[in-house]
Amino acid sequence: MPMGRRRIMPERSESDSRKLLRRLRDSLALPGKGQDRLDRITHLIADSIGTEVCSIYLFRDEDTLELCATEGLKKEAVHQTRMKLGEGLVGRVARNAAPVNTADAPSERGFRYMPETGEEIYSSFLGVPIQRVGEQLGVLVVQSRTARQFSEDEVYALEVVAMVLAEMTELGAFLGEGDGPGALHRQPRLFRGGTGQEGSAEGHVWLHEPRVVVTNPVADDPLTEIERIRSAVGQLRISIDDLLRADSLDKDQVQVLEAYRMFANSRGWLRRMEEDIARGLSAEAAVEKEQSAARARMQQVEDAYLRERLSDLDDLSNRLLRILTGQGQDTGAALPDAPILVARNIGPAELLEYGRKLRGVVLEEGSVGSHAAIVARALAIPLVIHAERITSEALNGDHLLVDGDAGLVHLRPDEMVVRSFRDKMAMQAKAQERYASLRGLPAQSRCGTVTRLYMNAGLMADLPSMQGSGAEGVGLFRTELQFLIRNKMPKRDELAKLYARVIEAARGRPLAFRTLDIGSDKVLPYMKPQDEPNPAMGWRAIRVGLDKPGVLQMQAQALIRAADGGPLMVMFPFITELSEFTRARDTVLHQRDREAALGRPVPSDLKIGAMLETPSLAYAPKAFFDLTDFVSIGGNDLKQFFFAADRENERVRRRYDTLNTSFLRFLRLIAERCRESGTPLSFCGEDAGRPVEAVVLAALGFGTLSMRPASIGPVKALLRQVDLNEARALIFNAMAQGVETVRPMVMPWLARQGD
Ligand code: PEP
Ligand code: MG
Repeated sequence: MPMGRRRIMPERSESDSRKLLRRLRDSLALPGKGQDRLDRITHLIADSIGTEVCSIYLFRDEDTLELCATEGLKKEAVHQTRMKLGEGLVGRVARNAAPVNTADAPSERGFRYMPETGEEIYSSFLGVPIQRVGEQLGVLVVQSRTARQFSEDEVYALEVVAMVLAEMTELGAFLGEGDGPGALHRQPRLFRGGTGQEGSAEGHVWLHEPRVVVTNPVADDPLTEIERIRSAVGQLRISIDDLLRADSLDKDQVQVLEAYRMFANSRGWLRRMEEDIARGLSAEAAVEKEQSAARARMQQVEDAYLRERLSDLDDLSNRLLRILTGQGQDTGAALPDAPILVARNIGPAELLEYGRKLRGVVLEEGSVGSHAAIVARALAIPLVIHAERITSEALNGDHLLVDGDAGLVHLRPDEMVVRSFRDKMAMQAKAQERYASLRGLPAQSRCGTVTRLYMNAGLMADLPSMQGSGAEGVGLFRTELQFLIRNKMPKRDELAKLYARVIEAARGRPLAFRTLDIGSDKVLPYMKPQDEPNPAMGWRAIRVGLDKPGVLQMQAQALIRAADGGPLMVMFPFITELSEFTRARDTVLHQRDREAALGRPVPSDLKIGAMLETPSLAYAPKAFFDLTDFVSIGGNDLKQFFFAADRENERVRRRYDTLNTSFLRFLRLIAERCRESGTPLSFCGEDAGRPVEAVVLAALGFGTLSMRPASIGPVKALLRQVDLNEARALIFNAMAQGVETVRPMVMPWLARQGD
């Protein structure tokens, strides 16, 4: 219901709606099958409101509504009449999540006459959505012969009834033996999302923020309910004030909390809920009603600021519900067996806290480059993003299958799906066993060439993988992750200790620390986000490091101290030209000299390299290739700039093939420039971890590939099967023929390799 348009109800209709709600509740308490209950309810509503018709339409699937019960329309139409979302007046109510109230239905825009129902004789129509916190469950309609506009009070009364119906639907009150429409939270559901991290998992739902279940939507005693809501709002206000007093808050957090405080103190909010209670709702149901209204509006408003505020209100309603019901506050509750985390979104620190206990993660939001995705990758937990509405559908403990490769999630899957999924997992497990047996062997191809396979890392959680994956070193340690998971800038000594542990875990194997790569998609929670038109090409990575050298200096000191006189490899992200590299390099060298002057040990062998992530660096003066100790290609960024295709944009990020000959020619040029200067070269983007791409890169002369630990096995297995000279000849031959991508030639050749 749009906020603010309601006036206090006159006493008579207040008690009328209360009476109706009580009759409704009593009727629902009687035993009976789902259909009997629905029939009783339509009769009861028509009788109480004084209309000839009352009908309940429920969603059969995401966009089909079905007439499930009626008083007044032809009974034969029940379970026969269906309409699409947006179709006819009923479909319009559902689509807009707003009432339609008309004295002359046939002349209303979008009216569709359903002959099988016999509704042509009814002129007035009032339909209200049956919705529960933004989740559309159906439509409740009353119709009458006399042409009359329903009063505001009548609309309101019907909305309150619809709200109770929604709660009852949610609780399964209308489920029949056949589990017909409305069999919420029982039927299998498939969610098609996107891949955040590959892998498969079977387990049980663990909702990050469990939904609050309102078991009694109708108030027995309005006065008690009013007292309850006032006291809960009071507690809420105190808790927000307490949060605001915390001293670790940044400006943005303060702003959000101020907005919360404003809502929590708003008299309108409390007054509306009190009115709902006066009409017969329980305190919890009144909160949910307000929340539903806010959610419905959220879906309609385009203004981003307003949407944010409505989402604040949504969050606040959740808090209030938790206070009222005491649910969802027991954070110590036991995780189910094989837990799979299901959430709208989750921060990196929270996800890390769950750690490897989780079998999988499913998010409604998120993106490939989000911090949560980075953490899920580090933990090697399958992650599916964009699984729309899964938090509304899933209940704690539900059986869940996560297919991270295809971005699919099967909720409450049926036997057949479970069987084939388990077969697939068994095959994957077999492959893993095979990879494990290769762990101690080199990635030596049939021609004798050995490719060094390193891993990418960034969290302490990655350290165990150094031993387990067979990685020969760490080609990329993303230091920003340690900054991203905190809510304060880490201190130098803290970092030095941490880096020392990483160095220790590497046990003398090569380990390249990349200095802070922030900006673009990686925004530190405690740094003011830059409002940039195109952050990927904005103030990021080494640009920030050079403009604000304090952090780079601090990091260099921490790294030098962590090395404790041993070897150290440092590289800079996003170097675009020679002078950027020399300035960054000088900063590190200066810190080394400073440490030496202070009498501290300096690295026995300090190697300073650059990440090549922008095409311009490939054409830098030779002095760059001579000066840098090594070059590491950041393929993710390099590819996005080479093809002008945003790596974060689902629409375009897979559009261009890495095996496109333009890109391969470009990579060859880089390899050639490094060779001329005798500069070691490696490749550390995601493509290095894809077996087919890895073979092509190795054939082009990339002797070191750095990837996620989980990719090392599959990449090694394929590299050991092939002859890289053959691969090279095939690639060059294909290029000479003028093809756009070498993939169509490489794939059949690879398929023949096992023969
Ligand atoms: C890259 O860009 O390829 C890379 C390895 O760095 P990141 O993915 O952290 O930007
Ligand atoms: Mg990069």
